[in-house]
Amino acid sequence: MEKQKIYQAAMYVRLSKEDEEVALAKKSESESIQNQKRLIRDFVSQHPDIEIIREYEDDGYTGSDFERPGFQSMIEDVRRGVVDCVIVKDLSRFGREYIDSGRYIERIFPTLGVRFIAINDNIDRKKGDQDDIVVPFKNLMNDAYCRDISIKIRTNLEAKRKDGQYTGAFTPYGYLKDEKDKNKLVVDPYASGVVRDIFKLKMQGMSQSGIADNLNKNGILSPLEYKHSIGIRIQENFKVNEQAKWDAVSVRRILENEIYTGTLIQGRHTTPNHKVKKIVKRPENEWVRIENNHEAIVSKREFDLIQRLLTLDTRIPMNGDAVYPLSGLAVCAECGSPMTKKDVPAGGKIYSYYICSNHANKRGCSAPHRIPKEKLENTVFSLLQEHIQAVLDMERVLKYIDEVPFKDIEVRQLNERKDRLEQDVARCKELRNNLYEDFKDGIISKKDYEELHDSFSAKRSSAEEEIRSINHRIRDVVSENTDKYRWMAYFTEHKDIKELTRAVAVELIQQVRVTDKNNIEVIFSFEDSFCAYADMAADYAANEGKLLAMPERMIQAADERKVI
Ligand SMILES: [Zn+2]
Repeated sequence: MEKQKIYQAAMYVRLSKEDEEVALAKKSESESIQNQKRLIRDFVSQHPDIEIIREYEDDGYTGSDFERPGFQSMIEDVRRGVVDCVIVKDLSRFGREYIDSGRYIERIFPTLGVRFIAINDNIDRKKGDQDDIVVPFKNLMNDAYCRDISIKIRTNLEAKRKDGQYTGAFTPYGYLKDEKDKNKLVVDPYASGVVRDIFKLKMQGMSQSGIADNLNKNGILSPLEYKHSIGIRIQENFKVNEQAKWDAVSVRRILENEIYTGTLIQGRHTTPNHKVKKIVKRPENEWVRIENNHEAIVSKREFDLIQRLLTLDTRIPMNGDAVYPLSGLAVCAECGSPMTKKDVPAGGKIYSYYICSNHANKRGCSAPHRIPKEKLENTVFSLLQEHIQAVLDMERVLKYIDEVPFKDIEVRQLNERKDRLEQDVARCKELRNNLYEDFKDGIISKKDYEELHDSFSAKRSSAEEEIRSINHRIRDVVSENTDKYRWMAYFTEHKDIKELTRAVAVELIQQVRVTDKNNIEVIFSFEDSFCAYADMAADYAANEGKLLAMPERMIQAADERKVI
């Protein structure tokens, strides 16, 4: 009689993250580590040909990959021939991935002569067993289960984002999580003040490193130090991008973060699916972007201007000059290069000029396009004053002709559509509830019941989706239309302007094109709007046959570009 082979078995148990997340109360009890072990021991006690020689466990690891310490050391022992049998309670303990689980169970184990037992799935594969269809099938089910959880967690995040809930682990400097709702951002009174200062200093023409020095000198804690000081613990791997002191990079990061305008942008990155943990950048049109989501720390206008300044900065020739009011704004009319400042000593005095930087570098512009610094700045300043007057006139004219509350009409239409959709939602709900009664009373078949039930649910969720988008649209319309004339206010609020500062120049001037001291062209900000409204006002005057007292200077200024 041949001596019976005794299998040297490895017992593998796993308590998964999924079990916790899904929180199926009944399940977690039956799947506890202790229960899995007991079940396996019971099984082995009935099988004299198996002896458990090693136990491996993983607590709190997901089944969607095999990066688990217990699992890995078990496989190591399998490869070294220490064990020749693996026992688990069920396949899902082993792994939830069809392809990888299958690779072990169908290829690696048989090749190594390892017996594999999944007790509750009635799987017992010894060497030579070939015809078992159960394993791949069960594996496939486990895979689907895992994907399902992954999608649930992801869709939950997506839904939160679409709903304007903050899903990040840490808040951006300047905001805190609401104590009552951790998905809501609230303004941090202290840090938001620092953010405002940073924007203000930048507006005044200070460089990022200048601002950082200023903050450090005044003992303002850097974002990282600040988080520590208010007791927010930060994991090591989050630290890498943050410095203990303010520096140009941390200042720039704040100046470029749109979150300070009240706009929440999330979902910039994603993991492709539950199998691949790699983080990839999403295309911009897939980002979840919600305006007016939380309290703003800086206005949208101020933010846009700062973005413009950051761009202009990169165009300022690096010759060690301080920033002048027209730095980066004044360009050569011939070649488009920025004008640079040049000091020329003459007769014991220093004369400052702007000249084409391209010509100064001897890189090809035909002429210096030289203009005395003062002449350029004074001319631009007086043109700006005139333009502000023209805008004041325009505002007066438009207020007279445009009394129609367009905004109200559109909002009313949107609200009517919303009402209809809300009625749809209510009706779907009611119909769906009645369905069950109809089914119970035998009026409709089970199949009809299921089909109708699904179709009402689908209809309802699409209506709800549309209601959400209408709400956003209403919010947009309201803010858009109240903003309709806002650009004019940017000019008119400077009607008593005394000098051309850097901040005003960046705010109101798009570009100054210099040919020579007698030919300067100024393009103001909102040129398109100015021209459009000037045309509209002119049309109105013509068609209505009324002679509006349209001031001469406004008509002249209709072609925004002024040439002296
Ligand atoms: Zn030039």
